[in-house]
Amino acid sequence: MAACIFCRIIKGEIPSLKIFESEKTLAFLDIGPLSKGHSLVIPKYHGAKLHDVPDDQLHEVLSIAKRIAIAQGLQDYNILQNNGKIAHQQVDHVHFHVIPKPNETEGLGISWPTK
Ligand code: 5GP
Repeated sequence: MAACIFCRIIKGEIPSLKIFESEKTLAFLDIGPLSKGHSLVIPKYHGAKLHDVPDDQLHEVLSIAKRIAIAQGLQDYNILQNNGKIAHQQVDHVHFHVIPKPNETEGLGISWPTK
């Protein structure tokens, strides 16, 4: 969808710090991290809510989230998907947060640059 921020990130029209990309999936660092290394894993298929995205476009998402957490050396983290406005979804393109817990974030080596 032309106006969707995450579709524009997928197309490279908006810069992002990408950490994984495949045919169906993209992962990049969150611009407003809740903790160091907070990332988002998204299907490239545009759907606002989970039930708008076909299963075959979602199959990789959880395993990629897990692989990111393993690559970051995390033991404790949250995987979060806000689905719908009342559930605090702000960006209308399905996304899964990988949120390191603060005591697990030392030495991750990646974070959104502050300058
Ligand atoms: P939601 O509340 O919809 O589950 O989370 C949306 C997330 O997208 C927020 O954590 C927010 O910081 C992130 N976000 C919004 N716009 C951008 C952007 O342009 N680039 C990146 N990297 N993250 C974004």
